[in-house]
Amino acid sequence: MASADAPSTSARVRELRNEGAYAVLAKAKALEARGRDVVHLEIGQPGFATPENIARAGMRAIEGGATKYAAPDGTMELRDAVASYVARTRGVDVDVDEVVVGPGAKPGLFLPTLAVVDPGDEVVFPDPGFPTYAAMVDAAGGVKKPVALRADGASFDMDALERAVNAKTKLIVINPTGGNPTGGVMPREDVERVAALARKFNCWVLSDEIYSRLIYSESGSGSGSGSGSGDVSSDVSASNSATTSNADDSSDVGASNNATTSNADDDSVFSIISLPGMKSRTILVDGFSKTYCMTGWRLGWIVAPKPLAERVKLLTVHSVGCVAAFTQVAGVEALTGPQDSVVAMRDAYKIRRDYLVDALNAIPGVTCAKPAGAFYVFPNVASFGVSSQRLADYLLEDAGVALLPGTDFGANGEGHLRLSYVGDLDTLRDAVERIKTSLAKFASRP
Ligand code: PMP
Repeated sequence: MASADAPSTSARVRELRNEGAYAVLAKAKALEARGRDVVHLEIGQPGFATPENIARAGMRAIEGGATKYAAPDGTMELRDAVASYVARTRGVDVDVDEVVVGPGAKPGLFLPTLAVVDPGDEVVFPDPGFPTYAAMVDAAGGVKKPVALRADGASFDMDALERAVNAKTKLIVINPTGGNPTGGVMPREDVERVAALARKFNCWVLSDEIYSRLIYSESGSGSGSGSGSGDVSSDVSASNSATTSNADDSSDVGASNNATTSNADDDSVFSIISLPGMKSRTILVDGFSKTYCMTGWRLGWIVAPKPLAERVKLLTVHSVGCVAAFTQVAGVEALTGPQDSVVAMRDAYKIRRDYLVDALNAIPGVTCAKPAGAFYVFPNVASFGVSSQRLADYLLEDAGVALLPGTDFGANGEGHLRLSYVGDLDTLRDAVERIKTSLAKFASRP
């Protein structure tokens, strides 16, 4: 509410909306405060603890006095580790001066957008998509061009994408390696088509690859959600066909895991940055929140051409200053230390995904594609004949299950709900039972 005597806010921030997850979490907490038992499927953060080697490196750094200002674009050690990591995983040469470290992946979305978009420039992004995409375009004064996804959520509706990109497009945002909210992994040929459009219209591509280490190999299974042979996911599945994971859902992933037959040493990710002519127009965004369960440490990075990296560094200097020095030490340990926890975590999520997709499809009126990445499912609930907001509210009230309406991710999310499977199998079973009972009641209401 504008107060009568307060000066106005800028047009740039007027359309900003909260992230749905925070709003639903607040509603769920209010119910819990009144004694209600709520199952949380709304939050997009790993349920696992930060792996011990990483946490200890951070603690040692604090004890050693790494509590002062650090280099605004990241310490040389961390940028060096990121450059090597990107070179290895994406198969491109990366100079340390092309790396900018920031407090999370979010500044890696926001600041480059401010640095390339002028008022009136068009920005194309997925709808449904991560809510920050719309927010950062608003903040930059750009023109939002949301593009619908195909039915299984794995990629854009490519015809709609072709129609949306034109000479006024300055930036195309993609979320190809496990999307939020659908979990979709873009087929390689679609990524190639995005690259062709970017070259043709001379625009930037911002590739949000935050879930790049949470892509599930299918070993030839026809899941129907983009896990065919041309997929991004197939790149990481090469050595995984005989995976016999022992990653127990209840085990502490950071401590002991026996999932040694997984593709621990194959962390390659197909990225648009590796396609011809794309290194000079790609902003690659990734970070530590999901891969290393470090959401609260606040650490992420971009790789961008040097002149743009320099501008983003200056925006970092003048907005957030720098990332906490001890967090950066922990980040070096994450990238250069043992990677077993990443593999064990991915194996555990895959078991949960398989359970949840099957269980949701067994509920009358619900259909759910099997996504190849991230830790979300995005079932279609249009058959219930009400808005996804109404259904999400009902499920919180009646079933005590907190989840998000698809419309929190854009208008095209209507008819869907987003459930995150960061909780363990018992939590998911409990949630599914509650949802099933409440939806049956809802369907048979007079
Ligand atoms: N991109 C996507 C698609 C995400 O889902 C998230 C986190 N929910 C982020 C970026 C931001 O990650 P971070 O916590 O590192 O800022």
